[in-house]
Amino acid sequence: MPTSPRPAFAAKRKALQSQILEQVALFDRLADPLIQITGRKGRIKWANRSAQALFGDARPSHTLIDRRLTQVFVSKALKTALKSLRKGERREAELIIRPDNLNHREFRVRLVRLEQKTVYGARTLVALSDVTEVLRLQAQRADFVANASHELKTPVAALSGFIETLERDPAALTAFLPLMAQEAGRMRALIDDLLRLTKTEMETANPPKAWVHIAPLIDQSISSLEFVFQDNQQTLTYTPPQPPVQVRADPSALITVFTNLLQNAAKYAPTGSEIRVTADMQGPELHIHIKNAGKGIAAQHIPRLTERFYRVDNGRAPQQGGTGLGLAIVKHILIRHEGRLLITSAPDQGACFTVALPVRRVED
Ligand code: ADP
Repeated sequence: MPTSPRPAFAAKRKALQSQILEQVALFDRLADPLIQITGRKGRIKWANRSAQALFGDARPSHTLIDRRLTQVFVSKALKTALKSLRKGERREAELIIRPDNLNHREFRVRLVRLEQKTVYGARTLVALSDVTEVLRLQAQRADFVANASHELKTPVAALSGFIETLERDPAALTAFLPLMAQEAGRMRALIDDLLRLTKTEMETANPPKAWVHIAPLIDQSISSLEFVFQDNQQTLTYTPPQPPVQVRADPSALITVFTNLLQNAAKYAPTGSEIRVTADMQGPELHIHIKNAGKGIAAQHIPRLTERFYRVDNGRAPQQGGTGLGLAIVKHILIRHEGRLLITSAPDQGACFTVALPVRRVED
């Protein structure tokens, strides 16, 4: 007697259903948004959870389903690409879009026309990834390279000028030598800082693990600059942290932080003035304040001081030997140490740069 096909059919259907559910669950776990559109109007017939969370929202009236893709992403480039797919000019397209309705966000979109049609018409799969941050970093990097080249050009041009003159007039050598040495020094300082900044950035994901006493690092930084304070007839007063504390640190990197800040204090404070270094505990953090008198900094510049090559007075700083990278290096080293740089200043009130670091107390 032939067996009934029903149980076998039901089992097959169940297996198929669970397979589909598994696949849908898989797509829902993707971090990148995935959408399927159909028909001439490109209406959304399916969207994974990430797409729904990013571009729809929790309210049922804002579900992505049945909305047109070109309404969710208002972009001329997207419209053109969809049209070309619809006409059969190509089966796939990849493009970057910056939708007019989504506040400066940029997406890489991959469109793939699928083989089988549905009752709603031809289907297209739309895979998106948010590349706003990647493109921003790329632009920042390009900007950095342009700035670095520009900064290097100045001393190179000066040196070339000196060499050309010396070819015509060798007697000028004695007068030119100190100036040439100064330009070469400027180039060296810039290259050193560029390398230090790159190294610091590369190490950001690798935080230091060893606990280190912080006071000797401050002592060492101060001692290495004593001749600068003497040259400027500046006095430095220092009150070490009490009680002694330790920080998870890369000692040479933290010495760079203190040296950069102390060098700046010496550079931007008037001759004969006092530079004060103090420390106090603020909850779990040690705050080390480096305070100098002088012209101070207007409020609008303060948030930008740690940007690469940012200088308040563009004309003056290069002559004072600054590269414009010192505070960017400080910021990145402190990020790696889970610390912060706080800046307070006002015109003619001097400036106070505070290094805030998470620390642990140690017994005397
Ligand atoms: P620079 O090499 O130009 O000193 P930095 O990154 O160290 O570069 O500092 C950026 C800018 O911040 C400086 O050009 C200066 O305008 C300002 N600045 C830094 N430290 C001080 C300070 N102690 N007092 C006043 N201005 C400061």
